[in-house]
Amino acid sequence: MTPPSGFVLFDLDGTLIRPGAPLQRVHMSTMAAAIADVCGTAEEFRYEGGQLWYAGIDLAGFTDAGTVHAALRHHGVPAVRLPQLTRQVMDALAERIGRRPAAGGESADDLLPGCRGLLEALRGHGCPLGMSTGNARAVARWKMRRTGLADLLHDGGFGDAARDRDDVVAAGVAALGGGGPGVVVGDTAKDVTAAHASGLRCLAVTTGATPPDELAAAGADAVVADLTGAAALDAVLRLLAGPSHPGPGVPPARRPPVIAA
Ligand SMILES: [Mg+2]
Repeated sequence: MTPPSGFVLFDLDGTLIRPGAPLQRVHMSTMAAAIADVCGTAEEFRYEGGQLWYAGIDLAGFTDAGTVHAALRHHGVPAVRLPQLTRQVMDALAERIGRRPAAGGESADDLLPGCRGLLEALRGHGCPLGMSTGNARAVARWKMRRTGLADLLHDGGFGDAARDRDDVVAAGVAALGGGGPGVVVGDTAKDVTAAHASGLRCLAVTTGATPPDELAAAGADAVVADLTGAAALDAVLRLLAGPSHPGPGVPPARRPPVIAA
């Protein structure tokens, strides 16, 4: 296969990091504590079948800023105070995560199978790599240090202020220079639609809570069961070699098959 010119943006939770992994639970409990400091109360974040919930709110595809905004609204914070208090919680989250140990590698078990091999293979093909994650920047970099991926993923689009996933992908594109074709690898329908809004293709992976038929219905350009083996690498290279996505709202020409890894 011809070496591609193009970049790849990776979602983190459910794509590279196991849903409900200890690392993600620390992230969410730190956020809950920061919410409680502002509101005087907070509920526990809850996992059901790999899906994350807060007070009955399905958080699939939510950014950190979007999650905090929804939680504060749930706790009755007046609309006029939501922007300022959301920023306050986000600042506290970044500060608290920054104080946690930064030694690398000790949470490598929190990674989903195959992700390091895929990242290294894509780097070997000359692809610039980045993140497209709803995590705040400080949280995302902390997770990369803790899982030993900081040498491969550093920059990208993050969820410090953006509540719309489209804005996260657009920021990731800008961070990587914005040139050439690009692919987003993600586990939710919002990853798919946000990739397309920026003219990128999306490889969807079913290691999160979203079933393959929902990812295909959202317009995923390819769907794989996980990131192990050659299927995911082949799919990314094929998407990079093809035409860019024509834009949001354009239905797929056909439903992509789910490729068994
Ligand atoms: Mg995800």
